[in-house]
Amino acid sequence: MAIKRIAVLTSGGDAQGMNAAVRSVVRTGLDRGLEVFAIYEGYQGLVDGGARIKKMGWDAVGGMMNRGGTIIGTARCQAFRTREGRLIAAKNVIVHGIEGLVVIGGDGSLTGANLFREEWPSLVAELVEIGKITQEEAADYPNLLIVGLVGSIDNDFYGTDMTIGADSALHRITEAVDAITSTAASHQRTFVVKVMGRNCGYLALMGALACGADWVLIPESPPDVENWQEVMVERLKAGRKAGRRDSIVILAEGARDRSGNYIGSSDVQRILEEGLKEDVRVTVLGHVQRGGRPSAFDRNLSTLLGHEAVDAIIQAKPEDEPLHIGIKGNRISRLPLMECVNNTHLVAEAIAEDDYERAMDLRSSSFKESWQTVRTIMRALPHAPTPGQKRFRIAVLNAGAPAPGMNTATRTFVRLGIDQGHIMFGISNGFEGMAKGNVREMDWMDMGGWASMGGSVLGTSRHEPKGSDLYAIARTIDKYQIDALLVIGGWIGYEAAFKMYNERSNFPSFNIPIVCLPASINNNLPGSEFSIGTDTALNNIVDAVDKIKQSAVATRRCFVVEVMGHWCGYLALMGGLATGAEQVYINERGVTLQDLQKDVELLSEGFMQGKRLGLMIRNEYANDIYTTSFMCSLFEEEGKELFDVRPAILGHQQQGGDPSPYDRIQGTRLSRISLDKLIEQC
Ligand code: ADP
Repeated sequence: MAIKRIAVLTSGGDAQGMNAAVRSVVRTGLDRGLEVFAIYEGYQGLVDGGARIKKMGWDAVGGMMNRGGTIIGTARCQAFRTREGRLIAAKNVIVHGIEGLVVIGGDGSLTGANLFREEWPSLVAELVEIGKITQEEAADYPNLLIVGLVGSIDNDFYGTDMTIGADSALHRITEAVDAITSTAASHQRTFVVKVMGRNCGYLALMGALACGADWVLIPESPPDVENWQEVMVERLKAGRKAGRRDSIVILAEGARDRSGNYIGSSDVQRILEEGLKEDVRVTVLGHVQRGGRPSAFDRNLSTLLGHEAVDAIIQAKPEDEPLHIGIKGNRISRLPLMECVNNTHLVAEAIAEDDYERAMDLRSSSFKESWQTVRTIMRALPHAPTPGQKRFRIAVLNAGAPAPGMNTATRTFVRLGIDQGHIMFGISNGFEGMAKGNVREMDWMDMGGWASMGGSVLGTSRHEPKGSDLYAIARTIDKYQIDALLVIGGWIGYEAAFKMYNERSNFPSFNIPIVCLPASINNNLPGSEFSIGTDTALNNIVDAVDKIKQSAVATRRCFVVEVMGHWCGYLALMGGLATGAEQVYINERGVTLQDLQKDVELLSEGFMQGKRLGLMIRNEYANDIYTTSFMCSLFEEEGKELFDVRPAILGHQQQGGDPSPYDRIQGTRLSRISLDKLIEQC
């Protein structure tokens, strides 16, 4: 029998994105014809019942996606840890006719959910026995269907690549560390920054990777030498000698040494003050990491997970065990909840038993690779080349429009190459610069501070090489004896690389390995689901639209927001999802007059019923004839007295700004893989 009523609750530590998940569960449920309840204050609301269990309508979850925390409240509930508490909770579930429950919380909350489901038949039997429910009611609720979503800023859960809130927490960390770095560099100071993560070094590791920190301490992989304190001091001293103006040490709250002794921020401060003979400042980021607006990624992840959770409940059979909905390899996944909870606990157990190899093995391969990468690029100076090794001459250029993250990728690529003993060249101004011979050998310290910079320090160009350019490019390759080339760029870079490949018979110099690393805010490149820069652009769109929406509180207004993307609707679609737009116009779907007519009717209807804001997002090339100004005129004319219409063309602000943590991380990962590939082909 099809289920009719579901409920959603948020529990344990709050995380940015929980609101988007609740909104998505409620609206997907309503769309599927279900009645949806929100349980306020987590399990406490389930135990208290009454007014804490509220039926939700479509509008009840409007305007909440941009807010941090959880508007339906969360709590730590002692009563739910007891069977008596869960018995009362079961009664409240049945009284409200709830057949399926979506729990959004950390591993504690999900452990509780699983226990509740396991005990369900016995709880129901007991409720009959003590006369709280009838036999008939019991027969109607043989089981409670449960789906869990992980809301946790720590990204500490097995079975998902990202937990709800982790990306936003990384945003807070990179904002803070970037700010600290600029003041530290001015005074040549050393800072210790402590971030959250009791059993998981994700935030510390990725924060260090994204911000170009000088040393990082995580629980899963304590320093592997006894005298790590001396090694750390020497490393920072060497960094200063090599020209670094600041020293940043990031440590996770669960950082420890090999014997399991916790390493606190004041321990690190003392060690560094004694070793460096200078003042060392400590910043404990604490709850700042949990706060603030959710990032674009968290809004979209939560929306997709919430949507899938409802469908999973609808499709579940009564005997099915609880499911966990997560994301694996950019695909929404369903896994048995308990298996994920148990495997999550295994990492904590391994750390508690000082079995760090096992703890690292239980983490994803990208976690381990990032750990290796961060340890290399944060070296003060590279390893010396091995005597007799073949030293390849490898060049890198940026091509096409600037994309945030290009500098981070270039920095990692060059440093990893130098560290492996190769000679690395930077080419200024893309293929145009290559034709002009703007090539220079890069030094380890040339890329100081690049990790967090937007734009392209090397310089990029939209020039597409043709005719005589090709001769000039071939001459540059010969002159500098370039063995391999990395093109970090967008479509123009791809076309240029393709042209070089096709011209190999005419220009033998082009017979070198070439790799293209996708970097374009448009996310329109073949062979990759994410190009560098896209996430930053999406966050820029979300920031701008949040502000635009706020500006309209005093009027009844519809905005038509135009975003970039060339012929790819990614930014419009994902921007629309993350901002709660009513309609998204993309050329993949096309735009017809009929669509516009339908949309304007829906808009008018909405405004007549009291709505105050309309939001339509369109891709810049969605339709050549139905332009942004055409749409605005059409809506304005049809809206008459009901509402007015304003265009908002976001333009180049989408391309600018410091790269988001995700773009920095992705740039680092892809450049490492690109280097491996080029060396292998050399
Ligand atoms: P998180 O979900 O963020 O890990 P907690 O561990 O504090 O946070 O769990 C949140 C709530 O989930 C607890 O206050 C309790 O109500 C419930 N809970 C946690 N662990 C259990 C458990 N083993 N059995 C029953 N309920 C639990």
